[in-house]
Amino acid sequence: MKVLHTSFECYPVAKVGGLADVVGSLPSYQLNLEIDSNVIMPYYNNSYVKKQKLLSIYSGSINLGEKHFNYVIKKILSKKIKYSLYLVYIEGLLDREFVYGYDDEINRYLGFQLSVLDWINRNSLSFDVIHCHDHHTSLIPFMVNNCYDYSSLKKVSTIVTIHNAQYQGQFSHDYIKLIPDFDVKNVGLLDWYGSINPLAAGIKCASRVNTVSPSYMEELKEKANGLEGLLRSESNKCLGILNGIDISFWNTETDSMLVKNYKLSNVVSGKKANKKKICDTYGLNLDLPLFGFIGRLVGEKSADLLPQAIREVLEKNESINVMILGSGHKEIEEQLIVLKEKFKGKFNAHIGYDEKLSHLLYAGCDFLLMPSRVEPCGLNQMYSLRYGTIPIVRRTGGLKDTVIDIGDGGFGICHDQASVWDIKYSINRAAELYKDKKTFRKIQKQIMRIDNSWTKSAQEYMNLYKSI
Ligand code: ADP
Repeated sequence: MKVLHTSFECYPVAKVGGLADVVGSLPSYQLNLEIDSNVIMPYYNNSYVKKQKLLSIYSGSINLGEKHFNYVIKKILSKKIKYSLYLVYIEGLLDREFVYGYDDEINRYLGFQLSVLDWINRNSLSFDVIHCHDHHTSLIPFMVNNCYDYSSLKKVSTIVTIHNAQYQGQFSHDYIKLIPDFDVKNVGLLDWYGSINPLAAGIKCASRVNTVSPSYMEELKEKANGLEGLLRSESNKCLGILNGIDISFWNTETDSMLVKNYKLSNVVSGKKANKKKICDTYGLNLDLPLFGFIGRLVGEKSADLLPQAIREVLEKNESINVMILGSGHKEIEEQLIVLKEKFKGKFNAHIGYDEKLSHLLYAGCDFLLMPSRVEPCGLNQMYSLRYGTIPIVRRTGGLKDTVIDIGDGGFGICHDQASVWDIKYSINRAAELYKDKKTFRKIQKQIMRIDNSWTKSAQEYMNLYKSI
């Protein structure tokens, strides 16, 4: 079985969020199942790509409306990446430093997808499945089924994985000429409420559609930023497959980003050494429980509730520390900076993206906050479990599927509402748990043993591929 993952992110080449971790790690586990798993993504002009040895394997050209672009498919020659990883180089269109945030993103997404299909088509490459990740590549199922240029690809099965249904990539029908010719009577497959909606088109046209957790699929059928009715009507081909994590990379015994590696037998001293590094660097108190948050500072993550919740807890409770790593909405960032001044010694925040610090926090914190309003799967809670850090989550999406409250015989702290009150209540419960050292240590060890690796989910993807 030969599979091509198409994505705009893939760790370690370019990462904005969980999409990169998934596309970067699932293929390695698929190789273990003897799936010939490959990844293709844009060539970015970033420091990682610049350091790689690249082999140009094909040059071609595409038309994007009136414009003509040459593209080159380059293969990364790295022993560290086990699967074949291809980059699409298009001068002036894809070779930018960042993944998102450009005015011409419709052209970027389409230019990438057309190049991938042109490359497969002209070289008669025999992929059994094209696995499309998120809206950036989810016009592929429509184009494979409908565009005259790709008629020989009709037999290729397609999968759309929805990592986040909030973002659908809608654009006006004025841009329809960017899509290669197709029978106009099928234009309705592209449309959703008067716009071309790539995610909706993917749901309509793909052989199968999945979300990154079972609960998220069920939630989307009720509320999906306008796509709920479509997901209900296509439910026969929709399912949820929980993301996994790469436990060879997220490994406390070998993680080179930690100041001290540790395992079950020395978890207490190992975590303490990492916590000390955080406390020394950010002026926090080693003796108090440390609560961390890592992620985008946006409403989906309930980051807007954090400043008030933290302020109210710290005003009343002298005996906790909080450390935040993230960036996002300016107002939230500003509120956190104000809190840094007000609660010196108990609160700190690093505004920005820092892979190394994120690993240190997973290892050194006692609790990880994830009060998300929406969480399609969430990887942070799985990393924190692996690193012996107890997750505090709102029961939604993948958080609901992976964290069980200690009150229900589980190992985490869960609440239901996206509210300041609920977050404060959970923090206070955690602070109480921290005082009960025996139970706290027992749970720390219990969670490190939980297997959230890709092994099970890679098999579920295999079953999905086989079903089509
Ligand atoms: P998202 O919705 O952002 O994709 P996920 O939980 O699926 O959320 O994945 C988030 C990934 O991004 C994790 O690997 C997390 O450690 C990482 N991450 C998020 N924000 C930051 C940051 N500011 N610095 C470093 N890593 C981050």
